[in-house]
Amino acid sequence: MGGLACALALAKHGITRIDVYETASNLGFVGAGIQLAPNMARILERLGCWEVIAKEATDIKDASIRRHNDNTELAHVDFSYIRREYGVPHMVGHRSSLANAMFDACRKETAITFHFKSSCGGIKSWLPKPIFTVVPREGESYDVSVDVVLAADGVKSVVRPQILKELNIDAEVIDSGQSAYRIMLTREQMASDPEMLQLLNSDQVTRWIGERRHIIAYPISNKSIYNISTAQPDVHFAAAPSATYTTRGSRADMLDNFKDFCPLVLRMLNLVPEGEVCEWKLRVHNPLPTWVRGSVALVGDACHPTLPHLNQGAAQAIEDAGVLAVVLSKLPDFSPDSINKALKVYEHVRKKRAETLVELAAASGRTLHLGEGAAREERDKQFAALKEKGGPSPDKAVDAEVQKMILGTDVMQVARDNFENIFQVL
Ligand SMILES: Cc1cc2nc3c(=O)[nH]c(=O)nc-3n(C[C@H](O)[C@H](O)[C@H](O)COP(=O)(O)OP(=O)(O)OC[C@H]3O[C@@H](n4cnc5c(N)ncnc54)[C@H](O)[C@@H]3O)c2cc1C
Repeated sequence: MGGLACALALAKHGITRIDVYETASNLGFVGAGIQLAPNMARILERLGCWEVIAKEATDIKDASIRRHNDNTELAHVDFSYIRREYGVPHMVGHRSSLANAMFDACRKETAITFHFKSSCGGIKSWLPKPIFTVVPREGESYDVSVDVVLAADGVKSVVRPQILKELNIDAEVIDSGQSAYRIMLTREQMASDPEMLQLLNSDQVTRWIGERRHIIAYPISNKSIYNISTAQPDVHFAAAPSATYTTRGSRADMLDNFKDFCPLVLRMLNLVPEGEVCEWKLRVHNPLPTWVRGSVALVGDACHPTLPHLNQGAAQAIEDAGVLAVVLSKLPDFSPDSINKALKVYEHVRKKRAETLVELAAASGRTLHLGEGAAREERDKQFAALKEKGGPSPDKAVDAEVQKMILGTDVMQVARDNFENIFQVL
């Protein structure tokens, strides 16, 4: 997400040569839905690829938070105000629709060249210009010298530990102790169940919350698919090698994990065929001291991986891309010194905000997953008050103040407005 968005944003801002190196052989993305938050949509609109995504996405009108075992609605939050307030809607869609729209837009830019089956093996030399090694799936490795490296290589980044090693800092990824099942049900599968059809035909994000686990679901792809994503304690990955991020999950384990959820949820989980349970390990790491070394910068999950409970991971990677395009296009020259300063402006505009959202997502998860006791009673009182008369929400993804902070800030504009001032003092 971050790599495609960077390439497109840079090309749209007049950078004339951009090479994208991608380990995979193509963009065969995991079939799953994604919340397309308005701060993401705003940037994609500018990059000219939002319209095609929006065409098949669902325009979310409300969110419903429900108790896991009896389906009681704890809170109901209106989302339709978002378009009025922030000028862009909150939509949900298919990951492949988002990725393909950016990829198609990239292919129209003559400045961009894609190199598939080509991994970055690491930075070989940092100064004066970065040189990195490309490891193609077939053939010999080779070195490339460039003006800038933007490492959008995900939570397993090879560049992040290199930057931190230079600073003598531990780059260990932290196991969040949580994992997620990702499920997509088709209209055909749901057709005979009126309650399920009601969900599929809705414009709603629904979250069922229970102790140490929850489920979030919404319709995507012109409402032909109901996307379900779970979060639960990660017991099955414990023994898995650290390189493993997704794995074929066990259907029996999945059903067991959610056995105390309401009959509607269980009927949906029961529709998942044996052999088609996809489990993701959720990983994060501590905030980094810096995202930049010389003319190399980290982007997206490589520098601010997050738990998905705030629906902001890809949105934040796309914000990174928008800001990088602004700062690099404002450079007076492409000297290593100017590039380093521009990347520092990027870090200045982005780091605190991204890390605040990472922490909020983790905190929200802790509140959503409370077990029986006084804290949960207090949380549910807050949900009830929210339903009655508005106010703060324990689920930060639907909290009006948090939405204001996330959606009310146009990071590209912030970068434009502050570039000169920050650049001069660096
Ligand atoms: C269950 C779940 C639900 C989520 N829901 C949402 C949501 O609703 N909304 C939202 O905004 N975000 C969501 N996210 C987060 C989002 O998916 C990630 O934050 C986002 O994909 C990060 O983008 P990225 O480009 O940084 O990394 P990635 O998407 O991981 O991309 C990294 C890319 O780099 C390639 N690569 C890796 N190493 C190398 C190398 N050495 N050389 C070359 N290429 C390499 C990989 O093949 C990959 O294509 C969710 C995440 C999860 C797990």
